[in-house]
Amino acid sequence: MRKNIVAGNWKMNKTFQEAEELIDQIVVGMEEMSLKCEVIACPPALYLEMASDYAEESRIKIGAQNVSEHDKGAYTGEIAAPMLASVDIEYCIIGHSERRKYFHETGEQLAKKADILLDYGIKPIFCCGEVLEEREKGIHFDVVRKQLTEGIFHLNKDEFSNVVVAYEPVWAIGTGKTASPGQAQEMHAFIRNLISEKYSKEIAEETSILYGGSCNPGNAKALFSNPDVDGGLIGGASLKADDFLKIAASFE
Ligand code: PEP
Repeated sequence: MRKNIVAGNWKMNKTFQEAEELIDQIVVGMEEMSLKCEVIACPPALYLEMASDYAEESRIKIGAQNVSEHDKGAYTGEIAAPMLASVDIEYCIIGHSERRKYFHETGEQLAKKADILLDYGIKPIFCCGEVLEEREKGIHFDVVRKQLTEGIFHLNKDEFSNVVVAYEPVWAIGTGKTASPGQAQEMHAFIRNLISEKYSKEIAEETSILYGGSCNPGNAKALFSNPDVDGGLIGGASLKADDFLKIAASFE
């Protein structure tokens, strides 16, 4: 069944103590809530093992923010999928616009990352989305279609059924400028239709498609009430337990 998901991308924030405090607050807060979604925290790699210990004792799931496309070897500074699997990480974000922009990640690399994650039983959260100029030129659908085609549409049906898609218009990330519920729904329906054409209507209906970009407790309900928006990938607002939990409570 298609899952509602709220995932927090902490990016490069928090010391170890702050990270432990944040995850503790989220887990304690979740105990009191009757949630209609899965809640995922994606802390920096250094804190994954600590976060994973929390996941053992609670409903929270843990995701990494990145993975190497190689499984081991001389790749200084990288973290491999088997390493993530060895500390029971369930999800991993790939294709975030910051990694595409600052680390020049290509579609080809992302396809390899998706493959290696799935080989080790980790579900990719695949990010796609256009920059402002592309939306202004009216080519945002083409951009997103290309990103999906290059990054994940080589997967077979079984593999694809373990993928979460996150539509993150780059112009909305960290800018305070959210896509309108209508803009989000339009792109999410487009993505679901592409999945349906590539795989099947059933698989498309089962795929969780998250919205990301300045989502906060004030706008989450309107975004998530769209039929094709199955939750959010949350950056800034995931760094405060209260805000993050309010977003997780935004499903009708
Ligand atoms: C993100 O970077 O994935 C994101 C959605 O960030 P923010 O919520 O801060 O816009």
